Amino acid sequence: MTKKKIGLMGGTFDPIHYGHLVAAEEARINFNLSKVIFIPAGNPPHKKDYPVTDAEHRYIMTALAVNSNPFFEVSRVEIDREGYTYTVDTLKWFKEKYKDAVEIFFISGADAILDILTWKKVEEVMNYCTFIAATRPGYTSEQLERKVKEVKEIYGKEIFVLEVTGMAISSTEIRKKVKNGQSIKYLVPEAVEYYILKYNLYR
Ligand code: ATP
Ligand code: MG
Repeated sequence: MTKKKIGLMGGTFDPIHYGHLVAAEEARINFNLSKVIFIPAGNPPHKKDYPVTDAEHRYIMTALAVNSNPFFEVSRVEIDREGYTYTVDTLKWFKEKYKDAVEIFFISGADAILDILTWKKVEEVMNYCTFIAATRPGYTSEQLERKVKEVKEIYGKEIFVLEVTGMAISSTEIRKKVKNGQSIKYLVPEAVEYYILKYNLYR
């Protein structure tokens, strides 16, 4: 019997945009995943380079964005956890939930994969899941392949590179546009656009 395969996609999703959604959908199709679960990150206790929007807003925007896809779900596991959230803890949580009945794929964009060796307990992380590295405009396939090779050499683990339809969209750019009063139409799902307007986010 072949194992059921599921995809997990972590992110700040501040806000979620079509770059995230296309990467997840193409990973789902190419890897035959029965579903993809989006996992918005919790609020970091220390500010990073900008104050992250309240987790509840980011969770709701993610839920709105995935609503039209029957294979997409959103999880509260990270936003309901106290303090900093680390991917290793999240993966451990899913591993315990599914035991060995399910094969877990973790979908990450090129930028995230490029600094994967700095992740907390990276070896443990790689024992819980198989990585799918989605290409992202601004990052070359060569850079990605080099990192994949390095990981293979150090940990003996395969990372699958997936060429996804290039969407040169980032949440940073969207936040900037909103702040400057520019349109974000067609960069995010309509429901997300309206939610941002309604709650006056990123002003
Ligand atoms: P920010 O600009 O705030 O960092 P972001 O657009 O990078 O936001 P994140 O929430 O940081 O979005 O990303 C979550 C995951 O989605 C990461 O693995 C990231 O690499 C991936 N990702 C984000 N945007 C894209 C995109 N346009 N194409 C492919 N992958 C993406
Ligand atoms: Mg990012």
